[in-house]
Amino acid sequence: MQQLTDAFARKFYYLRLSITDVCNFRCTYCLPDGYRPNGHDNKSFLSLDEIRRVSRAFANLGTEKVRLTGGEPSLRRDFCDIIAAIRENKTIRTVAVTTNGYRLARDVAQWRDAGLTAINVSVDSLDHRQFHAITGQDKFLQVMAGIDAAFAAGFEKVKVNAVLMRDVNDTSLNAFLAWIKPRPIQLRFIELMETGDGSDLFRKHHVSGGVIRTQLLAQGWQLQPRSRSDGPAQVFQHPDYQGEIGLIMPYEKDFCASCNRLRVSAMGNLHLCLFGEQGIPLRDLLADDLQQDALAMRIQGGLQTKKQTHFLHQGNTGITQNLSFIGG
Ligand code: SAM
Ligand code: SF4
Repeated sequence: MQQLTDAFARKFYYLRLSITDVCNFRCTYCLPDGYRPNGHDNKSFLSLDEIRRVSRAFANLGTEKVRLTGGEPSLRRDFCDIIAAIRENKTIRTVAVTTNGYRLARDVAQWRDAGLTAINVSVDSLDHRQFHAITGQDKFLQVMAGIDAAFAAGFEKVKVNAVLMRDVNDTSLNAFLAWIKPRPIQLRFIELMETGDGSDLFRKHHVSGGVIRTQLLAQGWQLQPRSRSDGPAQVFQHPDYQGEIGLIMPYEKDFCASCNRLRVSAMGNLHLCLFGEQGIPLRDLLADDLQQDALAMRIQGGLQTKKQTHFLHQGNTGITQNLSFIGG
């Protein structure tokens, strides 16, 4: 089996695949004014067959894990078919989704039947008013019911993403800890990332995940080892808690050294970094089954141009206006 490897000997086991830019939430740090079609309609996102072909190419290049993201991936009517199409690749053992949770309560059992193996739900606050203020949607209870439904459908663990923001939720660690004490939830604080649209918000609200790490270590939490297709989180456990805490700190030194993931946008462009440049078009090679070898060569060739690190520290966010089009 071939294995995707870049010029710095990093190996890539993990694909984050965006299947739509459309979203029904208006998170302050992502789409504060809501989704606006950017000169394309829903039909121009990757079709089910294109998704099948791109996931097959990545599977043949050693990908073990695919995360479906967006926009809000569960807004696609063919979402279950997409999950099943990716599961056709026997070497892809994990098919995960990152969702705002809007459709969880209604649909999660069907997603599981289709072959979904892991779920990340975004919940930035456990206070329903604050949740509403951040997301623009008064759906806190619906999302909580969705997490319960995920456990009821048979998921043993659910990951929850919270974007850490100064003066918003940076003093909420104890509330989150109480919530995960009896629940197998991995609560992951993601440092707010600067995007082209979000510079002011970033300056106002960015705070290092280090503040959370210091509190965790003082309370007896311990850092766990990481395996090769894991995401970028530093994971902490505590013997008194069923849940875990993850910290995603893209501004920390050496964050990029353990990069193991690539991204494909909903328009079919390969992005070597969340904060990279234009993207490498793959779509012209996704129209039929005969171009799989050329597709594999373009992915492997493109990977050789992946830079050693992002340039966020220099305030260079690449072309990333917000994370909805490339999937966070
Ligand atoms: N709509 C889905 C959701 O919100 O879970 C999936 C797409 S969303 C872009 C993926 C993740 O990126 C979410 O957990 C979201 O909180 C995170 N995100 C979006 N913008 C961000 C930013 N500027 N900084 C840090 N995380 C961000
Ligand atoms: Fe939508 Fe997710 Fe962006 Fe929030 S973070 S606006 S739910 S895509």
